[in-house]
Amino acid sequence: MESIRETSERAWNGDKVVVVEPFIRPGEIHEVVPGIALVSGFGLSIGVQTGDGLVVIDTSGRNHGEAVVAAMRTWDESPVRNVVYTHGHFDHVGGMPSYDADAERRGHPRPHVIAHENLPPRMARYAQTAGYNATINARQFLSRPVAPPQMVANFASPRLPDETYRDYHVFEQGGVRFELRHGKGETDDHTWVWIPSQKTICAGDFFIWRCPNAGNPQKAQRYPAEWAQALRAMAAHGAEVFIPSHGSPIFGNARIQQALTETAELLESLVSQTIELMNRGVRLDEIIHSVKAPQHLLERPYLWPLYDEPEFIVRNTWRLYAGWYDGNPATLKPAAEASVASELAALSGGASRLVARARELVASGDLRLACHLAEFAFLAAPGDPEVRAARSEVLRARASSEASLMARGIFNAAAAETEDASA
Ligand SMILES: [Zn+2]
Repeated sequence: MESIRETSERAWNGDKVVVVEPFIRPGEIHEVVPGIALVSGFGLSIGVQTGDGLVVIDTSGRNHGEAVVAAMRTWDESPVRNVVYTHGHFDHVGGMPSYDADAERRGHPRPHVIAHENLPPRMARYAQTAGYNATINARQFLSRPVAPPQMVANFASPRLPDETYRDYHVFEQGGVRFELRHGKGETDDHTWVWIPSQKTICAGDFFIWRCPNAGNPQKAQRYPAEWAQALRAMAAHGAEVFIPSHGSPIFGNARIQQALTETAELLESLVSQTIELMNRGVRLDEIIHSVKAPQHLLERPYLWPLYDEPEFIVRNTWRLYAGWYDGNPATLKPAAEASVASELAALSGGASRLVARARELVASGDLRLACHLAEFAFLAAPGDPEVRAARSEVLRARASSEASLMARGIFNAAAAETEDASA
């Protein structure tokens, strides 16, 4: 079997199979360096041996919990004393009940869970909006408009932390020191961990082997500028081993520095371009169409825009620093979308004219404009079978032209809406 260092080498050199697919199989355990191992689920669960049992950083998701714990136990059977959640997303906290159950079976004390103080309120918000979160995750990951019930359950009853901290928290276990630092990035409750004795950083989702998830169209506010600050703080630590919660570890300080500072540069560039245009009074539409990510950065295998993408990060930057008004007076207190669509359909000679033009635009490669016309046609004539079919056709073409999972998921889920009902 290939060693984790060989896998890491291939990822660093842009081997698509390693970067794009799960880099190890679910339930497999790999020792990264002596005393630190990782198990793959949807997110990774990282075990650290100490002179007094294990510390676990992240637990993977609920569906992978049992397999993750079973794999961890093939490596080390000692009690799990402390668990750190890097943040409250379900693929990081969902496996905790399996670790609790394992402790109970073995007669070990229940593990002590540590997280940032914003994590419990995040959990409360997920419980309050479980249906919404399950729906958007179904769209994002499965391209389905409706969430299966187990996805709703993921957000309903999390295992909460026993202890929370605000900026910085240190604990020692069995002679090993763990330094927890808070930073905002993908979420407002993020933690990254520095293990000085091993010169190792566990980065949570500050680094995901993709363009950072700082723009997600369907989720709560992300913090791209603060994200870059956290990456630069990590880069200052002189780490030799870097373990994100998704994807391959990175070995060696030079590579770690490069990956962290270049990811920070990408975020900083998008934020500063956006703010500069905001300061000039430019409307959101013009900002979206003029801000450009530095191309050489997007070509790095750890910044490919395969999950989130720069255009969405620009929108999230606007959302963080501006109000919701986009600068277009027609959208401040708009007419109902269906009224606008009916008016346009009437002016152009009917919804069928709109879809005919949409199909021409698809053929000529202007998928952005084609989507507008297809959606106007659908809103003007939602029951028309030809319009519904054309809308799905345009959206499927759009989805297959997109690089990011988020854009593809949303376009495919929207296409399915008009296919399911007409089937
Ligand atoms: Zn994650």
